[in-house]
Amino acid sequence: MKLRPRQEWGTILREPDIYGRSHLGVPLEVWRPAGPCTLLVFAAIHGEEPETTFALSRALRQLTEPSPHAAVVLAANPDGLIRGTRGNARGVELNRNFPTADWQPSPVPHRSTLEDPRDVLLSPGPEPGSEAETKALIGLIYDLKPQVVIALHAPLACIDDANQSPLGRWIAERTSMEFVADVGYPTPGSFGTWGRENGVPVITYEFPMTSTDALVREHVPVLVELLTRWPIADGR
Ligand SMILES: [Zn+2]
Repeated sequence: MKLRPRQEWGTILREPDIYGRSHLGVPLEVWRPAGPCTLLVFAAIHGEEPETTFALSRALRQLTEPSPHAAVVLAANPDGLIRGTRGNARGVELNRNFPTADWQPSPVPHRSTLEDPRDVLLSPGPEPGSEAETKALIGLIYDLKPQVVIALHAPLACIDDANQSPLGRWIAERTSMEFVADVGYPTPGSFGTWGRENGVPVITYEFPMTSTDALVREHVPVLVELLTRWPIADGR
């Protein structure tokens, strides 16, 4: 696909569809592909990771037409993004709120920086799948039926793919980041676990801790490739 001239990179070409509303009533937006959806890429399920939204938006703004195959969600947790919180407006860590066999009601310990202890406690929600944003994302995936979902996060600098798929390996090689099958700590009720239990392959793409300029140079081109080329890796 030809990309838009640089002068036009300031705006997104099309209006999105709305797949639900956040707790605060903010529209949950999806840019659907032109053809059958093989890939869903979403950003900012953690409101404290705005660089994921920024980078994915930069990639989307370069397209001259809808992606042939990829759906894009720029903010899975817009209330958290607006308020700068990891969780949603109800204080729920959405990536521990998915209805999985291992969902736990106990508070989720979170570290405020990579050097800090895990001493900030967040809620996993009153029950599995309780949150508007969680329900809407699950509904969107049942609607789109993507072959794979890429969840953008920061700042662990790795590609986490429980299936160790060719696509996950391609992203890891392309970004020179570690390719892991597990983040190394328990994540009950996470989106990745929900995907495993429901036959939805999930790749977690963790940006490194870096400047926005470095993300534009090193990761936005990878996102553009993901939105414009399919299949990228043999066997996905
Ligand atoms: Zn995250």
